[in-house]
This record gives sequence, structure tokens and C-alpha cells, in this order.
Amino acid sequence: MKKLPFTKEMIEKIIEKYPTPFHIYDEKGIKENAKKLIKAFSIFPYFKEYFAVKANPNPQLIKILKEIGFGADCSSMTELIIAEKCGITGENIMFTSNDTPAEEFIKAKELGAIVNLDDISHIDFYEKYCGVPELICFRYNPGPLREGNAIIGKPEEAKYGLTKKQIFEAYKIMRDKGVKRFGLHTMIASNELNPDYFIETGRMLFELLVEINKELGIKFEFVNLGGGLGIPYKPDQKELDIFYIAKGIKEHYDNYIQKNNLGPVKIFLESGRFITGPYGYLVTKAIHYKNTYKNYIGVDACMAHLMRPAIYGAYHHITVMGKENEPLTKKYDVVGSLCENNDKFAIDRNLPEINVGDILVIHDTGAHGYAMGFNYNGKLRCKELLLKEDGSVELIRRAETVEDYLSTVWF
Ligand SMILES: *Cc1c(COP(=O)(O)O)cnc(C)c1O
Repeated sequence: MKKLPFTKEMIEKIIEKYPTPFHIYDEKGIKENAKKLIKAFSIFPYFKEYFAVKANPNPQLIKILKEIGFGADCSSMTELIIAEKCGITGENIMFTSNDTPAEEFIKAKELGAIVNLDDISHIDFYEKYCGVPELICFRYNPGPLREGNAIIGKPEEAKYGLTKKQIFEAYKIMRDKGVKRFGLHTMIASNELNPDYFIETGRMLFELLVEINKELGIKFEFVNLGGGLGIPYKPDQKELDIFYIAKGIKEHYDNYIQKNNLGPVKIFLESGRFITGPYGYLVTKAIHYKNTYKNYIGVDACMAHLMRPAIYGAYHHITVMGKENEPLTKKYDVVGSLCENNDKFAIDRNLPEINVGDILVIHDTGAHGYAMGFNYNGKLRCKELLLKEDGSVELIRRAETVEDYLSTVWF
């Protein structure tokens, strides 16, 4: 298990200034990890990571990643505007949307973003509002040609992308419209921990690129392998070896792209979880103990701050600060205060004995954590803190207030 970037004494000091609950992000961890990804993929002629804004839309984090050389992967109007306000524009934005409203395509075009179309019918839709683009990308869905994975499901059940037949048709249409610049995209897994899955995705895309080139004579500028790199949420899971993945993909690159003289093709990723996921922590306090048919620890955070356990039954490791080395003699459900029985951060979890007032740290909340939160039950989203490289702590998003919540209605 990863070591926490703070001690009990440090977090107590932080809580004095910023009361629980909050997410806190480890700047050093995020930066080192982002640089590691770039290093692993530096074996390609050109590599760029477009951070999936969906995973963690906090501008301060996006700006840190921008400094390291990342672009932004956006899929909504708000995400496009966040990228723009962070100073990310032009082809440093990849717009990978689906069921897209016209105004979002218009905004993406205005920003000069790379547009990744999710369906063949979007060709006419896009042209109607934005004209023929200079550069186009399509999202490929291999359907039954690939095995699925737990979160995204089987490709043929997923709503995303074009079928193999459609993808040939789509590039032909664009070629005939005079488009000169092309990219190819797929995203078929989520939170996948099998490194060979990504290597196979690379192979699949390179093979398809060669086939399309043979049939239509078009040259590709980039291949975007999507996101979906998993992280070890459970203590017994292993971190993905990103160097192994990059090397494996490079072998296929050489075999398909180099051998057929189709290079250089830029390699893009749009990872979210892998970049920030392990470097965020939801810090909360035990405020109640309840013993009925089960043992419950009630904390001051709830599923408004972290939805993954409630939605997917996802495991998030929990550390009770100061009791790291105590035996796990108790079995608890760790719960929030929503009037929803699935508002539980852990079910039947073996933990050390917890007292009211103890600080609980819920791990791996740096991606799809705060971002997924909602306001059901009038619950307000918590603040976000940045633990900076120099050890200081900065508030990077204040907590929502009742006034925020009520600002869209009147009495
Ligand atoms: C959600 C999403 C991502 C990021 O997924 P991670 O699992 O966080 O890597 C990337 N691209 C698209 C199109 C997505 O929908």
C-alpha cells in the first residue's frame, strides 16, 4: 500500500485550519507520476497526454499538469471552458464527446480543439454547425472483436464509437470532403489493471490504421489510445507498469506503422484516473458510533463527496490515523449521513477499533471523486486542498454553501 503523504500530526494541524471533510491532493505525487508517464512514452517519435478533465476538473491541478506538458481531454461545454480558462487551447484540447449538443461543437471549433466524432451521423451534424473541419478523428468501437471490462462493459454494449464498417465509411466521407488531417481514437476499458490489454489496444488501432490506409489512401497524424489505465484501489492489487505498456505498444508501432512506412504517427493518451487517482484523499472524522444488527461508524463525509462505493460498489482503502499498526479487530460499515442506504464508504470492513473523533482517510479519491459528487438530500460538496511540494497547504476549492445550493431557485 502506498504511504500517506502526511502524518497524523500534520493532518491534525491542517484540520485546525480547514475542518473536515475535504479532499486533499498530493502535488509531489501527481507531478512525479505525470513525468513518469511522459518518460515511459518518450520512446515514441511524439507523445502527448490529454488529461481527462472529467476525472478531476480542479483548475489548479489542470494548471500543474499543463506545466508538465499535458493537454486536456474535454467532453462537455463546462470542461471546454475550464480548459480555456487554464490557458489550454487549440490542438492541446481533444474534444471527445458523445450525444453532443451543437453549441459544444461550436465552442470546440472556436477553441481550435481536435474534434473526435462519436458517430457517423455526427459528420453531417457537425458540418451543419461548424463546416468541414481541417482535422478529424473518429472514435472506434470494436464491438465483439474485443473483450469488455467491468466498468465500461462489453464494447458492443457500450454507446460509444463507430463500428468497424462505419469507420471506413466515415473516413472515406471526410476524405472526399477534402479533409487532409486524420486521427484515430478508441476508449474501450476503464480502470483496467491488465497491462497487456492496452498493448493489444495499440495493436488493434495500428492494424486498423494500416487497413484504412490501404483502402482509402489516407495518412494518419495520430492515434489516441484513450484512458482507462487502472490503479490499485485494493491493497493486494499491483500498480500498472507503464514502461512495460509503452514498450509493448512500441513493438506493435514498429511492426505496423514503421514497417508500412506510415510514420511518424503521434501517440496520444487521455488518461484521468491513472494521473491523479492515487494522489487524492478524502479526509473525514468519525462523528457517531451505532450498534444495531451491525456496527456502524458515521463520518462527516457522505456520498456527495465520493460516489464510487455507492455507484459501483468500489473499494476504497481506509486508514484510521494513528491506528495504522493496530490489529483489525472490528468489522464496521463506514457510512455517511444521506437518507440512502447505499451511502456507505465501506461494508463489513475489518478495521481497528474506531472512536468518535478519530480521523479517517479514504484513499485514491484523486480522480472521479469530488468530480462525481452531487447535491442529493441537499448535501453540499466539500472543499479541496492541495498539499504542495514544499509541505504547505493551499485551499483550491472552497466548500459549497447553502447559498450556492439555493442560488438557482427563489422563494
Ligand atoms: C472518462 C474518460 C476518460 C478518462 O478515463 P480514466 O478511466 O479516468 O482514464 C478518457 N477518455 C474518455 C473519452 C472518457 O470518457
